Amino acid sequence: MDPVNLPALTRYDFSRVRNMWEPLVLEVVAGLIQRWEMCDCQDCVLDVTALALSSLPAKYWVLDKYDVLTTPDSFLTDANNKRLAEESVLRALRLVEKNPHH
Ligand SMILES: [Zn+2]
Repeated sequence: MDPVNLPALTRYDFSRVRNMWEPLVLEVVAGLIQRWEMCDCQDCVLDVTALALSSLPAKYWVLDKYDVLTTPDSFLTDANNKRLAEESVLRALRLVEKNPHH
């Protein structure tokens, strides 16, 4: 079942609800792939991304709108958030490397 296709929800664009950590996590993953520091197969890349995002506190914003407390830009350029994203990706990578699905 795809909840987005429930009759009461079909007129809303839920793709505008975005995980704020995702751009930071994907930037770290891209760097690891480019430097040949992780397996670049689809299974490993998606597993590392999902694990890393799951270990970070939930944080979402609606695309094209500003969060009341934090604008996406200040969140994405915050050095501490970048460090947290990097740590979560490296932790996830160690787990996936121990038990790869490829
Ligand atoms: Zn792999």
